[in-house]
Amino acid sequence: NQSNLFQALSAHDPLSVAVEHSRTGRKFTYADLTRDILEARKHLIQKCSARGVSSLKGERVAFAAMNDYDSVVNLFSILASDAIAVPVWPALPYLEVKYILENAGAKMFLLTEIGEKVREMGDWFIGADDLIVDVISRVPRRGKFQVSSQVDFPDVHDAKGGLMLYTSGTTNRPKGVFLPLSALQAQAQSLIEAWKYTPKDHLLHLLPLHHIHGLVNALLVPILAGSTIEFVRPPAAPSAIWNRLAAPFLEQPQNPMAHEYEKIHEKITFLTGVPTLYTRLMAYFPSLPDAVQAAAKRAISPKELRLNISGSAALPTPTKSAWTELSGGNVLLERYGMTEIGMAISCGLDRKDRVDGSVGWPLPSVEVRLWDMDKEEVIQPGEEIDKETGRERIGEIQIRGPTVFREYWGNPKATQESFVADDDGKGKWFRTGDVAVRRIVEGSGVGSSGKWAKGPMYFIQGRFSVDIIKTGGEKVSALEVERELLSLPEIAEAAVVGLPSETWGQRVAAVIVLKEQNTAPQGLMGDSSVDETSSRGIYKPWGALHLRRLLGDRLAAYKLPHEVKVLTGHIPKNAMGKVNKKALVKEIFGVQI
Ligand code: ATP
Ligand code: MG
Repeated sequence: NQSNLFQALSAHDPLSVAVEHSRTGRKFTYADLTRDILEARKHLIQKCSARGVSSLKGERVAFAAMNDYDSVVNLFSILASDAIAVPVWPALPYLEVKYILENAGAKMFLLTEIGEKVREMGDWFIGADDLIVDVISRVPRRGKFQVSSQVDFPDVHDAKGGLMLYTSGTTNRPKGVFLPLSALQAQAQSLIEAWKYTPKDHLLHLLPLHHIHGLVNALLVPILAGSTIEFVRPPAAPSAIWNRLAAPFLEQPQNPMAHEYEKIHEKITFLTGVPTLYTRLMAYFPSLPDAVQAAAKRAISPKELRLNISGSAALPTPTKSAWTELSGGNVLLERYGMTEIGMAISCGLDRKDRVDGSVGWPLPSVEVRLWDMDKEEVIQPGEEIDKETGRERIGEIQIRGPTVFREYWGNPKATQESFVADDDGKGKWFRTGDVAVRRIVEGSGVGSSGKWAKGPMYFIQGRFSVDIIKTGGEKVSALEVERELLSLPEIAEAAVVGLPSETWGQRVAAVIVLKEQNTAPQGLMGDSSVDETSSRGIYKPWGALHLRRLLGDRLAAYKLPHEVKVLTGHIPKNAMGKVNKKALVKEIFGVQI
């Protein structure tokens, strides 16, 4: 059944490499992978029946997701058992792991080595009678003949299994999102059509495996497409990433810094990361030796690096332009997605379809609409401008289609609240909580991007709950102000928030980090940088008045920050490079939003 992408896994060239480890150079072919998936599935089933569990169908099986081959085998063997795979990042604090295992009601927890986690969790494991903890250590073996074994996966539409991913926890406690096998297949089909993953692609994997970006976009989809993925364990140092990228292009004699990768000749064709990855890479670039710099530039040039993608958080325009310049014309492709819906909106493969500030068009099979929350109606095509005010209408992004998740695990109330009624008999809409505007961009669309890339483009304005600031009857997108702040050459990081105000409802405030302070330990800079004022205030460097002067001709007055705090080091971010603005406001301004 070739329409089942999982089934097609066994049809990939058995000799081609599925998974590679950068550091050790270990490689595993598709023949290794299919054989090991079969063995692992057998092992899972035996282990369970020995403990009186007769079937794994629909059961949750957690596994330590470690950016290695074993995790790939575990993931697919759980899916092949028709169980629900729950990736757990072993570096998470013990209480987080416990929360996930309990919330998911995991039957099994697969560990690849008896590490610290087991010791930490020892008492709890003993108490958790129903949890089967298994330690798998897979010894690399390479058969003489590389023949793919046929792995039978469940029919995607009848399957009870799938994936349980926990959201990044940016706004709240992570929620368990159940993505049935049919949704995974739909997401993979959509991305393969849009981004054209092929067996020729060699993807450098730099992301944690317990979120959608690292697990679906950078692992599941390329494996289903027969590509090669190469793991560099996160958090990979920028120097390691640069040296790996540069390795195939280094002239002899090799640079001693690149010795780890000496034997690597494969070029990276596909890179996907969060915006901070690209920022960190570029900040480190000048520290590389000249020869590595030259090779690295070639490695990321449009000729060699077929696709470089950014997502999970808004891509600052200066980061995008700097990357284009460094790479000699490789433009970062921005896309929008979330755990609950997979990837939903994406810019196109054609470089002119990567418009600054835009996340592009709805991906194949994804239906998107914008919901005007004030007027309680859909913003129809052609009605993007409010006739009364002449301003662009901001609407909540709502999504439906086969890629959407089934439920928040164990939380029917949250599930119910996140969908709105079906108004045309074609299914309920998922409320993302993110807001956007839609604009026609002249000269973009269709062309070589594919026929899905057409019509007006979407521009994300942020999360409705924290990024839409209502001040004196106006709405301000925190993302728009952040983009302008970041375009100032002195500013390295910026987070714009709305503070409660009796007069205005909310007031725009900004937390910034200056480039010169970017490497200092994290903290709040002295009071000289704090400017608590309106236009009558005292002028202080990097205070509100200073920013108002710098940005006055780019942003309307009501969008300009009234209060500014300057931090040293970094603005606190989670594993996916995102800022929890509620926590930030509490910490920095001492108020609740
Ligand atoms: P939680 O739901 O636990 O608070 P989270 O929403 O950060 O965490 P994810 O599902 O990993 O968890 O992230 C999805 C969110 O990331 C989206 O709802 C959106 O706010 C943000 N996001 C993703 N891509 C982009 C993008 N290109 N630009 C702006 N925001 C983005
Ligand atoms: Mg979310």
